[in-house]
Amino acid sequence: MNKEVKEVKKCRICGSQKLYRFLDLGVIPIPNGFLKKEDLSKSENKYELTCQLCENCGLVHLTNVVNPKIMFTNYLYVTAQSKIMLNNLTHLAYQTYKDFKLDKSSLVCDIGSNDGSLLSLFKNLGTRVLGIDPAQNLAKIAIKNGIPTEAKLFGLQTAKMIEKKYGQAKIITALNVIAHIDNLHGLLSGISHLLSADGYFITEFPYLLDLIKNKEFDTIYHEHLSYFSLKPWIYLIDKYDFEIVSVQRRRIHGGSIRLIHQRKRPKKNIAKKTLDYLLSLEKTAGLYDKKAYIQFAQEVSNLKTELLNMLIDIKKQKKRIVGYGAAAKGNVLTNFFGIDNSMLDYIIDSTPYKQGLYTPGMHIPIKPEEKLLSDMPNYALILAWNFADEIMEKQRQYTKNGGKFIIPIPKIRII
Ligand SMILES: [Zn+2]
Repeated sequence: MNKEVKEVKKCRICGSQKLYRFLDLGVIPIPNGFLKKEDLSKSENKYELTCQLCENCGLVHLTNVVNPKIMFTNYLYVTAQSKIMLNNLTHLAYQTYKDFKLDKSSLVCDIGSNDGSLLSLFKNLGTRVLGIDPAQNLAKIAIKNGIPTEAKLFGLQTAKMIEKKYGQAKIITALNVIAHIDNLHGLLSGISHLLSADGYFITEFPYLLDLIKNKEFDTIYHEHLSYFSLKPWIYLIDKYDFEIVSVQRRRIHGGSIRLIHQRKRPKKNIAKKTLDYLLSLEKTAGLYDKKAYIQFAQEVSNLKTELLNMLIDIKKQKKRIVGYGAAAKGNVLTNFFGIDNSMLDYIIDSTPYKQGLYTPGMHIPIKPEEKLLSDMPNYALILAWNFADEIMEKQRQYTKNGGKFIIPIPKIRII
C-alpha cells in the first residue's frame, strides 16, 4: 500500500483496539472512479476493501481510509437526480420547517450539501441557508444556483469560522455524509459549537441492521468509512451532551435511519421507547457480536456463487445481458464478483456525464437509457437495486417486448 491510505488501528468512536476483521471484498478501485476511453490502458489505483467490528462499542468500519482528497475533491455524485431522493428531501424540509417553527431569521446549515438540493427547499420556505461541502465543483454549482456554500471539510475549525461569519444555526442537517467522515469527534464538536442552544441536529444514514439483514454488501465501499447501528452512535453523541428526540426508519438507500438530536434536557425523552425497541432488535440480530458478521460474509459468498452460476448459464444459452445503473454499488458488485465485459455488454445509466465513460476495474462501457429498448438485450441486471421499482416502471416497454430484469439483492429474482 502507499501514503494515499491510512490503516485504521483504533475504533474511530471509542478508541478500542479490539477490532475483528470480516468480509474481505478484495483490492479494488474507488467505485466512483469512472474512466475515459483513453485512460483504459493506464493502471488504476486500487485499495483494500475490508470491514472490521469494534468489539467494544459495536461500530462497523473499514480497515483503511483512502485520502479524502482522492475521493471527494471532484466528487461526481450529484443528488438532484432521483425522484425517490427528491421526495425524501422534500419530506424532510417541510416537516422540519413546520415542527420547529422556522422563520426568516433561522439559519439552516447542511453538512455535505452537495449541489444544494436540500437547502434550496429550505430557501424556498423562507429560511436563511448555508451549505458546507469539500467538493469544489459541487460548491460552485450550488453557489450558481443561489445557495451560499463554504467549500470546506466540516470540523471544529470550520464551525468556528461559520459561527463568526453567519451566527449560530437553528438547524444543522447532515444527510448521507456521516459515513464519509473519518474524524467523528471533530464533527460532533463542530456541531456542538455551531448549533444554537434550542437548535436541532438532523442526520440520516444507511442503517446497519438493514445492511446485514438484506445482504447489502455492495453499499460497503471506500467512501463509506463507517456503518452505524444505534448503539455506537448513541455512545458518540452522549459524549457531546446530545440526545435523540426522534427516530424514523426510512426505506431509502436500502434502509436508512433518520435521527433528530437536541442538547440534553431534563424532561423525559419522548423517543426513548422507540430507541429501546431498536436497540433490542440490534441485539437480537447479533450486531455487537462477531458471529453475525461471520454469517454475513458467508451469505455474501453464497450470493456470489449463485449469481455467477446464473449469468454463466444465460451466456451458455447465447443470450445477452446488460447492467442497469452505473452506481458505485454496482462497481463494487462487478469487481468483487468478477463480472466483466464478457458477461455484461454494457451498463445503462440515466446520468449524462457517465455516458460514454467506462466503469472502474471492470471497464464496462456506459450507455444511455434509450439503448435498452432499441437494442433489446435478453436480460438487464439491475445494479442500482435500490431504484429497481423506479427503473422497472420507467422501462415497462422493455418487459412487454420480452426483456427480463434480474435483481441481485437481497435475493436473486428474475422479473
Ligand atoms: Zn468502538
